[in-house]
Amino acid sequence: MSRGVLIAGNWKMNLNHLEAIALVQKIAFSLPEKYFAKVEVAVLPPFTDIRSVQTLVDGDKLKLRYGAQDVSRYDSGAYTGDISGPMLAKLGCSYVTVGHSERREYHGETDEQVNAKVKAALKHDIAPILCVGEPLAVREAGEHVAHTTDQLIAGLKGCKTDQLTKVVLAYEPVWAIGTGRVATPADAQEVCGALRARLAEKYGAEIAGDMRILYGGSVKSGNIGDLVKQDDIDGALVGGASLDAEEFTKLCAMA
Ligand code: PEP
Repeated sequence: MSRGVLIAGNWKMNLNHLEAIALVQKIAFSLPEKYFAKVEVAVLPPFTDIRSVQTLVDGDKLKLRYGAQDVSRYDSGAYTGDISGPMLAKLGCSYVTVGHSERREYHGETDEQVNAKVKAALKHDIAPILCVGEPLAVREAGEHVAHTTDQLIAGLKGCKTDQLTKVVLAYEPVWAIGTGRVATPADAQEVCGALRARLAEKYGAEIAGDMRILYGGSVKSGNIGDLVKQDDIDGALVGGASLDAEEFTKLCAMA
């Protein structure tokens, strides 16, 4: 088992490329260089910012990683508005979120489409951050574990076993995203533990033990510490708090 902590900031549809440069500079220079040997920090800006972030990271040899928020299932072609794996790979993206609940809800993304995007990312050596999580009604019905483990298995369907440890999972209960209502560490651990157990059942304990599982949903500097203390939580996918350099670096420092 060789899992390291990952803190990934999902900027969603916020910040133009100039604002992105300013935020990345603040984050990179607020954290001491040795910090990055302990915790991996990534930012996931909108597509329009990625080239600027790449130039900054490469030029200043920053330890920060970066990625995108979506990827097409196709490599190229008549898919207006979409961005492909080869394009993201050329921009040096390490990560891409796939199946975020906002894309499932506002773009109608199905498990089948999410699965195709996971494979597209892996094909181009980009680590997919596969997001799963239940809406409030599912949790209230007590079906959150079944719901998220089903999303997990559907999302990974047909992936090559030797690529699985590159996949990062993010458990993001829909009711906790952007609401200020964070899952308790015990509730988050219940689901993250169940996800790992399901991975072990399907792919074996070694692969399951090597895969990173993040928690996402109203993570802040004040709650990250107790979340990452849980056995099966290896970091966080952070939305709102990743847009504020001071809060995000504080959060990273507490992880
Ligand atoms: C997210 O968008 O993935 C997220 C977890 O958002 P927030 O931290 O704002 O709840």
